[in-house]
Amino acid sequence: MAIKCPKCKKIYELSAFDAQESLFCVCGQSLGVEQEDVMKSLNEICTQYKLKLEEGKVVQIRKMADSIVSLIMNIDYSRDYVKIQKNKLRDLILEISPDKVHLYGLIYEPRFERLWKKFRESDAD
Ligand SMILES: [Zn+2]
Repeated sequence: MAIKCPKCKKIYELSAFDAQESLFCVCGQSLGVEQEDVMKSLNEICTQYKLKLEEGKVVQIRKMADSIVSLIMNIDYSRDYVKIQKNKLRDLILEISPDKVHLYGLIYEPRFERLWKKFRESDAD
């Protein structure tokens, strides 16, 4: 995957795995994904709403969310493509828990938006 430094615009070819680590550009800008305890938030919200999510489905949601994070960082993918994948994640949550689709809006959408701002909104050059 190709990642563009949000600060100096240098492009790095990285594996998706590398991008999850704490990487720094030569200019000092962090190129990694902030470690956020997404699963902890998910569990807390599930407890709050007395939701039970099967472990297998949680793994499915997490994998899809992780892959979207990689797509957002990877400048090879368009905003439309990322949007389609985000809709798929929302659909998956909808399928798992039809009346609690706001989990998506509470947990994932804000995280994706932050990453988009960081890695893509400097694309205007
Ligand atoms: Zn840089």
